[in-house]
Amino acid sequence: MNLTYSEIRNNLEHGRSTCRTIVENYLSTIESQKKLNAFITVFDREKLLKRADAIDARFKSGKAGRLAGMIVAVKDAIVVKDERSTSGSKILENYISPYNATVIERLENDDAIIIGKTNLDEFAMGSSNENSAYGPALNPIDPTRVPGGSSGGSAVAVAAGLATTALGSETGGSVRLPASFCGVVGLKPTYGRVSRYGLSAFASSFDQIGPIGNNVADTALIASVISGLDAHDTTTANIPVADYFSEIKKNVKGLKIGIPKEYFGQGIQKEVEEAVQQTIKRLVSAGAEPVEISLPHTEYGIATYYILVTAEASSNLARYDGVRYTHRSADSKTINDVFVKSRSEGFGPEVKRRIMLGTYVLSAGYYDAYYKKAQKVRTLIKKDFVDAFSKVDCIVAPTSPTVAFKLGEKTDDPLSMYLSDVYTVNINIAGNPSLSVPCGKNSNNLPIGIQIIAKDFEEAMCFRVAQTIENF
Ligand code: GLN
Repeated sequence: MNLTYSEIRNNLEHGRSTCRTIVENYLSTIESQKKLNAFITVFDREKLLKRADAIDARFKSGKAGRLAGMIVAVKDAIVVKDERSTSGSKILENYISPYNATVIERLENDDAIIIGKTNLDEFAMGSSNENSAYGPALNPIDPTRVPGGSSGGSAVAVAAGLATTALGSETGGSVRLPASFCGVVGLKPTYGRVSRYGLSAFASSFDQIGPIGNNVADTALIASVISGLDAHDTTTANIPVADYFSEIKKNVKGLKIGIPKEYFGQGIQKEVEEAVQQTIKRLVSAGAEPVEISLPHTEYGIATYYILVTAEASSNLARYDGVRYTHRSADSKTINDVFVKSRSEGFGPEVKRRIMLGTYVLSAGYYDAYYKKAQKVRTLIKKDFVDAFSKVDCIVAPTSPTVAFKLGEKTDDPLSMYLSDVYTVNINIAGNPSLSVPCGKNSNNLPIGIQIIAKDFEEAMCFRVAQTIENF
């Protein structure tokens, strides 16, 4: 039941459907697709139906919000009041949030219905969803393959018709990678575009919440609703939010499209490269002008990213100490036991690896060689993008060098898992917006994604080019 939001809205307007039946339909699809393990928590049926009835009543009196009838699945790293929020970790297994994230407030104010919380890699650390303490979500196109991570459950929910749209979050590709592996659309907004209030902190100078949809228009609509200044997050920018939904009507005639040579090198699958090149040709036929560009510091991205985000994570995750809202070891006799045993029992292996790496790169004697140097490289990578955008309007590149890989294929080799992020993390280091949209399939019917990167706060450009690609 993959209806677009405008079809849903149309059905509501013509009395062919109600929010109550929409919720019932999604709940039964979720039930029938349980094996995909997309959700960690599905909300209480009665509570959902009560909310649906209230929106139906508002609809009848002509007072329903912009998202009435839109059913949204939310990554379990974003808090919803009075609901469990695990961040994919055992350490938060029983944590119930006393408040809503800002994005949830905004969705609900516009009458969206949040249906549940989706699976993710523990604390959003991973590229395959296999680091979840609740078992991996499976790719609906081929369940022997990963959906991508860390927002895997959100991409699966949208691709399998378990929700109309979803929210994920990105620190380094976690919306775009699963969107590309599952054949859906996903946006990483500019750093500072969407409030992080209520998102569990991984690497605070990188983290951004981003929307996922089955099509560009739905993704644009939900992006407009969640974006903008928020008093609860001082890193949000006081820059007006464009109406992305109407921006998608613009064509690409005369746009200069940068093609970075570093994104078509070693390790890219032939069919991925062909699909992306073919899409670029079509953009050119539609009137865009291709410009070959270079982002010379691309090769330092993975190292820089994994130094900086582990450093920030090692500090952010110190709050999970067994004292207040997290799991506390039953075996703690001293205060030291509370810290050490609760954390040892509560965190999974990838999270522990990151805390150790991050503590190491920040420690006296190593700080200059790792953390400080990585900060300097971050500046150089940002400058690559600033220079490129003095010549072009947007940049297009593959989202990932490969299609979705097999479950278990990379779990024994963390470095090869980190390399899945080779085309995504540089954009997070730089902070620019980037959107992944499907651009073809390989010979096994597995989706291929292309990303459109734009200048800071020009998400509208990502949507406009993506809509042109979706129309091909
Ligand atoms: N693969 C990246 C990592 O493990 C993804 C992180 C993210 O975007 N949340 O750090």
